[in-house]
Amino acid sequence: MGDLNTAMIEKYRNRFLKEVEANVEEGEWVKMCMQCGVCSGSCPLGKFWEHPPQEIFMMIRAGKRDEVLSSESVWMCTSCYNCIVRCPRELPITHIMHGLAHYAKRLGLVPKNQPTAKFAQMFWDNLMVKGRVNELKLGLNLYFMNGIGDGVKVALKNQKIGMGMLKSKRMNPLEAVGGHAVKDLKGFHAVLKKAQELEDKRLAEHGA
Ligand code: SF4
Ligand code: SF4
Repeated sequence: MGDLNTAMIEKYRNRFLKEVEANVEEGEWVKMCMQCGVCSGSCPLGKFWEHPPQEIFMMIRAGKRDEVLSSESVWMCTSCYNCIVRCPRELPITHIMHGLAHYAKRLGLVPKNQPTAKFAQMFWDNLMVKGRVNELKLGLNLYFMNGIGDGVKVALKNQKIGMGMLKSKRMNPLEAVGGHAVKDLKGFHAVLKKAQELEDKRLAEHGA
């Protein structure tokens, strides 16, 4: 009977669900969702998203590959963990949402100009230079993310905060031209390179 059940489940798992299970962090949990809606109801932001988590999981199980992987919603999770602590099935919802975003990025399916994806790339590029985030540079890049005109407007709007940070020495303008590096920057890059190779290998084995 056990074998029969397993065979039935296997038969009705669609190709996209299998793809998610093979390639998305914690993706193997999606089939455990019982569609109770607690996660979507608990998510402080879900009501503003096109597809809150419960809906995303339902769409995966319905094989809606394009809609899920090109969705803005998978980029909107703020990792507040509200959903995880309340899910009666203990799904690692936060990780799945981030995993879906990461997978969509690898496949080049991120919506154009998606701000969270842009910021994530900015953060990563910043971190890669010295192995530590240069907060001042990151802040400036963020302000000017949508062009000089927008950047000047945001900077003017926040000038009081900036001046306050300068006065209280929470911000050092010299950081914009320098910044501290980790002790072993070469080693740091080597670790990331190895991790990237392992991830590429894993995805190639799964045909992603
Ligand atoms: S709370 Fe858990 S079981 Fe309920 S819909 Fe969300 S993920 Fe599924
Ligand atoms: S962790 Fe993400 S999906 Fe979960 S409640 Fe918070 S914002 Fe919503």
